[in-house]
Amino acid sequence: MPGFCPRCFWIQMHAEGIPYQIFPGIFSSIDAYGKRLVHGWFDRHHSAPPWLRQLGNIKGYRKPPHHSKFSILDRESNVVLRGTPDGILVMQDDSHLIVDYKTAKFTAHQDALFPMYEVQLNAYAVIGEQKGFAPVSGLALVYTEPVTDDATAAKDANHTGSGFLMEFSAHIQTVDLIPEGIPLLLAKVRETYDRKRPPLPQEGCEDCALLQNLIEVAGR
Ligand code: SF4
Repeated sequence: MPGFCPRCFWIQMHAEGIPYQIFPGIFSSIDAYGKRLVHGWFDRHHSAPPWLRQLGNIKGYRKPPHHSKFSILDRESNVVLRGTPDGILVMQDDSHLIVDYKTAKFTAHQDALFPMYEVQLNAYAVIGEQKGFAPVSGLALVYTEPVTDDATAAKDANHTGSGFLMEFSAHIQTVDLIPEGIPLLLAKVRETYDRKRPPLPQEGCEDCALLQNLIEVAGR
């Protein structure tokens, strides 16, 4: 990430918890719903839902394992790499395409997070190759964005006796498969983690001074 701060990363790895980490649960619910939609469609129709068809000839899916099973030890760095992909699709040639759902509008801001997502998906590819999902032939981000324009809101069909329906439109962004970059990043993780003291603050970041101020105020 362009704004990556080794000090922040060091603190996150060494602290036993970080305060003020509130993530609205609605996004996880929507991502989980997306997974159920895809798996349910495959179970009923034995083909990909229309909004995923641009990903190619998909013949099915495999249930993504829990992160306790989708996990490998990188011996060079002695770092455990683990995670849980949102979706693992099986292509006609029996290779695997790993997808991650993002409940977000695809905008320039999302592009700013792209390096992080690229690493996330390539890490899944590295794990998948060693955990029974070889070969991994592709990676993709599926942005799902709520459709909230006036015309859609005016449709009577979107009203039910118990609430209302909200449509989502999907934007698919393929991600380059470059798993060879992951070991270098794991070496960097190890190098940062092993530092006895946190790296220096980023130049120009005002949050470190605010944090120091908070510590002083709380310690009075
Ligand atoms: S400089 Fe900014 S980004 Fe780095 S540790 Fe301090 S608050 Fe975090």
